[in-house]
Amino acid sequence: MSLYGGMTATPGSNGCLCDLRSDTMTGPDAAMYEAMTSASVGDDVYGEDPTVTTLEHRLAEMLGKEAAVFFPTGTQSNLAAVMAHCGRGDEIIIGNSYHIYCDEAAGVSVLAGVSMNAVPTDENGALTPETITGAIKADDPHYARTRLVCLENTVGGQVISLDKMAAAAKTARSAGLSVHLDGARFFNAITALDCGAKDLADCADSVSVCMSKGLGAPVGSVLVGSHALISQARRNRKILGGAMRQAGVLAAAALHALDHNLPDLARDHANASRLAAALNKLQAGDVRLGSNMVFFTPRDGLHDKLRAHMADAGVRIGGQSPAIRMVLHRDVSDEGVDAALAAFESYFAMP
Ligand SMILES: *Cc1c(COP(=O)(O)O)cnc(C)c1O
Repeated sequence: MSLYGGMTATPGSNGCLCDLRSDTMTGPDAAMYEAMTSASVGDDVYGEDPTVTTLEHRLAEMLGKEAAVFFPTGTQSNLAAVMAHCGRGDEIIIGNSYHIYCDEAAGVSVLAGVSMNAVPTDENGALTPETITGAIKADDPHYARTRLVCLENTVGGQVISLDKMAAAAKTARSAGLSVHLDGARFFNAITALDCGAKDLADCADSVSVCMSKGLGAPVGSVLVGSHALISQARRNRKILGGAMRQAGVLAAAALHALDHNLPDLARDHANASRLAAALNKLQAGDVRLGSNMVFFTPRDGLHDKLRAHMADAGVRIGGQSPAIRMVLHRDVSDEGVDAALAAFESYFAMP
């Protein structure tokens, strides 16, 4: 019935018991499919898709912003946001581990003529006020014009405190810069921070939120901000080819996720803690835990052997090295976590 076979607590599309490679591996469950098939739709390019409009209003309201626009991907949402904040020859200040800098094929430079001043973060993944201040360029015709600070939360699963976010935003704003927050995992961040959506969104002028990660929708991101900014971002979405027609079938999945799936993020974080605790107990390598992610660097260095062993047990883990990433999400059941723990134990018990 499901293209993904994605009912929670059942094996995923690839037949494995537990796919820890990413929280993008979530598929719609039966109730989400039901919401999609019963969605009211219209041509959203004409502004006539009621479900998309409802989703945009819902996110804007939740995050305390004036307006929102629905995108097919987070990459396009971030790009359209940067284009709305900046013109050609402008520069953004961004953490050198952040997604826009590392994982979006330099789209802001390639397509928007915006240069990236990628700066080190603190050990937690945050941009500090000192780093931001030091990266702002003087108004001089030799230089790119510093225009925007791009924050991220969570960063590789690490949760940045509200104090740090607010301090970065204050520094940026007092220098006349705008602030964009790549909140692909915004809801993981506020779950871990135990704060309201507005508390975190207040730290930025625009926020991009992914619906297709831990929330479990198959597609989509939403960008929120002021009326003026979102209207420009909507124009940018058209330029980038992301204006969709009866996108209500997708927005319905995102609305369903907002209505039903938010509380499960705490369970994913608890499962990540459980996995990290078990790995720590095995004393088989370095373990780092943050929200729904665990990074494990096996001391034996035999990553391929470990991955093959885990796969035999129906557990897929990340292909990275030295630290292997494991991401907990709603399609990893408690039994899936049990299977992962058992497979790690049997691997490290091997002679
Ligand atoms: C996943 C992700 C995005 C957007 O990714 P898409 O695959 O384009 O939806 C942006 N930023 C961060 C931090 C992400 O993890």
